[in-house]
Amino acid sequence: MKKDAQLSRRQVLSGLSASLAMAAAGPVLGAAASHSTVPTPPLSDPTTAYPKPPYKSQKQPWPGLTSQMDPVPDHGEKSYKGSGRLKGRKALITGGDSGMGRAAAIAYAREGADVAINYLPAEEADAKEVLALIKAAGQKGVALPGDLRDEAFCQKLVADAVRQLGGLDILVSNAARQQTHESILDLTTEQFDWTMKTNIYAPFWLIKAALPHLKPGSTIIGTSSVQATEPSANLYDYAQTKAATTSFVRSLAKQLGPKGIRVNGVAPGPIWTPLQVSGGATQESLVKFGGDTPLGRAGQPAELAGIYVLLADPLASYANGQIYGSAGGDGLP
Ligand code: NAD
Ligand code: MG
Repeated sequence: MKKDAQLSRRQVLSGLSASLAMAAAGPVLGAAASHSTVPTPPLSDPTTAYPKPPYKSQKQPWPGLTSQMDPVPDHGEKSYKGSGRLKGRKALITGGDSGMGRAAAIAYAREGADVAINYLPAEEADAKEVLALIKAAGQKGVALPGDLRDEAFCQKLVADAVRQLGGLDILVSNAARQQTHESILDLTTEQFDWTMKTNIYAPFWLIKAALPHLKPGSTIIGTSSVQATEPSANLYDYAQTKAATTSFVRSLAKQLGPKGIRVNGVAPGPIWTPLQVSGGATQESLVKFGGDTPLGRAGQPAELAGIYVLLADPLASYANGQIYGSAGGDGLP
């Protein structure tokens, strides 16, 4: 009898602790339930999610327009859904008219950021589409065209972005020049200098100009490449600038980490953008672009948008000095 009574007391106590545990978990589970109301997208096979090679042979004069590509690249125009991850942030993105920069610009705006984009005057048509998408997301979009090879322009670009956005806390240094040259003997000093000025000097000038405006919590994101670690024979100049990008990310992360500014990079593999059809790839490699990756195709800029968002998001506040790869299973970040 006594034993039964003890057991039942134990049962009562264990029942009580179970219900206390449930009560404690209740609000958490309730919160989780309220955050999972977004419809679950169907599973999508990455090997068949986008066009596969062979791609059509095509060439555009540099810097190329995304609207003229066949197939037109996907930057998430129809697919990217935001959830307020960058609400109130102010971002400057170079090369924001097309490719990875455009995918980042669309995603940032849909995550609640105001976005300034830099591009070349020849890319006005692409830039107009991006600005319309930023505005359609309910955010401020600022157009700041100009050539990054000029230090004075880089300084003015940052000053204009800060003034028009009312501050700056995300700098995406993404613009680059890539032209193939079969031999180092074909590469003129002028071409070499062009690549170095765009890919190495411009980020240096931009970051120096931006730094006085960046408060703790701000982030700098560079676009590197798998070329940084696995350079192609015909990208002698470009590949070394991407090694420089990876290196500046790691160096600056150590320098700026103590100030609360994170510096990270993205290393894409073969991605379907104007850079590749305006001299960045040979026609021979373009038609089979990305075909030798484990996913069997070129990547689309939209597939990298989430990485640019993550690196700017305080949810990734311990990620600093990292290079995030996106190369279909090939190449090292
Ligand atoms: P993209 O052509 O869409 O973007 C490059 C942008 O650079 C252009 O839109 C242009 O606005 C800008 N730019 C070039 N020279 C400039 C100058 N002097 N002044 C101002 N702007 C200038 O191509 P993308 O592939 O999206 O390139 C974005 C980044 O991705 C680059 O850093 C590139 O090196 C990197 N990347 C691309 C690939 C790929 O396969 N497409 C792979 C690895 C890395
Ligand atoms: Mg462009």
